[in-house]
Amino acid sequence: MAVSNEDDLFRLLPAVGQLLQKSEFEHLSQRFGRARVKAVAQSALDKLRDRLHRAEIVEPEELSEMISNLGARLETSLEASLTPSLIRLINATGVLIHTNLGRAPLSSHVARAILDLATGYSNLEYKVEEGRRGHRDQHFEHRLKSLLPCEAATVCNNNAAAVFLILNTLAAGKEVLVSRGELVEIGGSFRIPAILEKSGAKLREVGTTNKTRISDYQEVISEQTGLILKVHPSNYRIIGFTAQVRSQELVELANRASVPLVEDAGSGNLFPSRHVALSRERAIESSLLEGFDLVCFSGDKLLGGPQAGIIAGRQSLIEEIRKNPLMRVLRVDKLTYAALEGTLIEIEKGESGEATPIWKMLTTPLSELEPRVQHLSSRLEASGWTNQIVSTRALLGGGSAPEESIPSLGVRIETTSQSPNALERSLRTRHGVISRIENDHVILDLLTVLPEQDDQILFAFRQISNQAVDSATAKPEHFSPTRE
Ligand SMILES: *Cc1c(COP(=O)(O)O)cnc(C)c1O
Repeated sequence: MAVSNEDDLFRLLPAVGQLLQKSEFEHLSQRFGRARVKAVAQSALDKLRDRLHRAEIVEPEELSEMISNLGARLETSLEASLTPSLIRLINATGVLIHTNLGRAPLSSHVARAILDLATGYSNLEYKVEEGRRGHRDQHFEHRLKSLLPCEAATVCNNNAAAVFLILNTLAAGKEVLVSRGELVEIGGSFRIPAILEKSGAKLREVGTTNKTRISDYQEVISEQTGLILKVHPSNYRIIGFTAQVRSQELVELANRASVPLVEDAGSGNLFPSRHVALSRERAIESSLLEGFDLVCFSGDKLLGGPQAGIIAGRQSLIEEIRKNPLMRVLRVDKLTYAALEGTLIEIEKGESGEATPIWKMLTTPLSELEPRVQHLSSRLEASGWTNQIVSTRALLGGGSAPEESIPSLGVRIETTSQSPNALERSLRTRHGVISRIENDHVILDLLTVLPEQDDQILFAFRQISNQAVDSATAKPEHFSPTRE
């Protein structure tokens, strides 16, 4: 009996051609393309055949049902396969510049500028008035010059690339003096000694981890010196028994030896006077005014723009960097220029412009967060989520002002039916809401949540409570995180 029954089962399996003639599959072919539908249908049939061979399916009724459900199943998987993996998330961590979450969000003005440029041709390297070739920096340099006291500026892929380009252009085959207190690692993959070595320059360590004096630089500076590099201690502080060299002393030494003095400013504090959390961060403006020849910094940290590495300073040095063939390797595309120019325009407009989201967050007063947090808290309560409004300390992140925190507000969720870890996971994997766990509680910090996302958070919690109620009956479902 078993044998003939098995044969019957195999006879029930349709050929792929038969399947594709069904109206359901015709419809799928129109949506996803015939070749694609044929391929997934064939693979689904192969899998069913394998299961028959392994006797995992033995009842004809079971098999018939699976075959009749095939269209619906393939539709779901075809849809899923065409869904981008790069998706929008809600950052409720309270870390403003979060590298894992894509750093600075762009303002809607800037996003529109990108969209406008992306879908057509542009004057990226073209001087419209003169009808001849231009340089892509023409859309960026004069704007940066109006913000910073520099003669010239250029831009490349990111700040790591900027450091690399500077070293490779000005110090390949020569020594670069760096204080031992500044031989940093940033974000695990950016180490000053490693970048320096790859650039072809030779690292000459100066002083000690906690103390470096100008005499330490004087002792090692020589004909071999290509440049002096100062690195912003982005994500750490050396405290206690310390000594750092004053900028003025470094400037004098570099001038006397006729070597460029360069600063990797990391996050790049362009707005020193405008915020308390930044008041102790070294300002790019000061470095340039003090006499640093070049300063480089990230586009997507405090500046609040796209990923980019900005180099500002002396014209002659910028010209040399532009001529380096590696500049061609590390240059940025029109979308980055659009985003960068848009960001700089918003900054130039000041009060009258739409501030970058990072800047808006940084300057959000608690009085503005209060009604939002109260609204969220009471609506959560009404949906059965016991919670408390808590004062939190948001962080700048991105290696800016590691000791400074920004007063903020959030909600702390009291979970009873599930662990805080399970809730954090549901929010993250099913709804794209990234929260944090503190003292065994899920905390949502509202400073980094865009105001229009408050309701999406509420929606996520309502979904989670509904699912918790009928979790006994509900089947696990495919859920893609929140998107707009
Ligand atoms: C963040 C940082 C970098 C790396 O910048 P990217 O734009 O991420 O390449 C380099 N140096 C310092 C001091 C930084 O803080």
